[in-house]
Amino acid sequence: MTANADRNALINGLRGLAAFLDSNPDIPAPRYASVSHHLLDSPDEEMRAEIDTIARYLGAEIDSWSTSDTHYSTTIRFGPVEYRASAILSKRRAEITAELRHSRCHDCGATGVDSLGQTCESCQGQGFC
Ligand SMILES: [Zn+2]
Repeated sequence: MTANADRNALINGLRGLAAFLDSNPDIPAPRYASVSHHLLDSPDEEMRAEIDTIARYLGAEIDSWSTSDTHYSTTIRFGPVEYRASAILSKRRAEITAELRHSRCHDCGATGVDSLGQTCESCQGQGFC
């Protein structure tokens, strides 16, 4: 799907959700909704510059919570609905990669022992791989 097709599909989906909730008042609705645009795979300074550009388009500030070395974002709100553009900076991406490497063992369910009560060979009893 092209970027414009993705954008149009999102807009149509949001309109569809709004119409659905409006015409089905018995369906519970969340108190707020958030749509996020994430930047993930460019150098940090390029992503910060892109977020700065988006913030100017939005007429919004950089989110104060995001000025760390892990995230950089800007947000515009429409009542309880928000649009956020957020860069996941290289430090946080490295943390996520490390966390994914250290995930639960699928063979033993993180118990460290196999079905025979022996040390799990996949994780060597660690429970994590
Ligand atoms: Zn295991």
